[in-house]
Amino acid sequence: MRRALIAGNWKMNLDRGGAEALARALVEGTSEVNDRDILICPSFPLIPAVYAVVKGSNVWLGAQNMYFEKKGAFTGEVSADMLKSVGAEWVILGHSERRHIFKEDDELINKKVKSAIDQGLKPILCVGELLEERESGKTEDVVKRQVVEGLKDISVSDVLKVTIAYEPVWAIGTGKTATPEDADSIHSLIRSILKDMYSEEVSQKTRILYGGSVKPENIDSLMAKENIDGALVGGASLKAESFLRIIKFQ
Ligand code: PEP
Repeated sequence: MRRALIAGNWKMNLDRGGAEALARALVEGTSEVNDRDILICPSFPLIPAVYAVVKGSNVWLGAQNMYFEKKGAFTGEVSADMLKSVGAEWVILGHSERRHIFKEDDELINKKVKSAIDQGLKPILCVGELLEERESGKTEDVVKRQVVEGLKDISVSDVLKVTIAYEPVWAIGTGKTATPEDADSIHSLIRSILKDMYSEEVSQKTRILYGGSVKPENIDSLMAKENIDGALVGGASLKAESFLRIIKFQ
């Protein structure tokens, strides 16, 4: 039985006061929620302030990106150790905005996933196709390539530390959601890729989140699907009321 994970990606939003207030509302609103994991990922400079609020609560803390090197002349980058030192335990990697705006490729993302695991952060590897890839029938090839390349040279014991998020790019921030059936079928494809790469056990134990315009109105039907183990939420994670409703899916 996979434990659900509801993760909020705050992207480049909120100032310090807004981040602290939202984190406080989430901590208070989830004090009795013990049967699922809850994660928030603020932007880098806000992590210490948010950590002070969520420490000891039911809310996990993560980052939205990191660099794979441990230290050195990499202006503007942050390492896994730096993130851990300010309270982050998770990191989102390969988000479509990193892939498409910042031109991160599978090789770089794979280095980041390996570095996160080596340094004790729990990675969420994001995969998903563009609209034109979906329309030209390439969804399965794109998702397969991103999973296989993203997990290249990662051992069985390490891959069990990875969460995968399927986020069709055309559904992110657009209000368009994949139907629960479409999402479930891609999640099932990802499980079969994991089975081929590793084993039935890895395929069954790995959590696969759905992301792309998840809202209070669609979370219950998404979570009812067998292969959907949680959600990676952008816009709707920025308001306590909507994110708490998503966290409390039925
Ligand atoms: C995301 O950024 O990961 C995301 C899914 O955004 P939204 O929920 O706003 O579509």
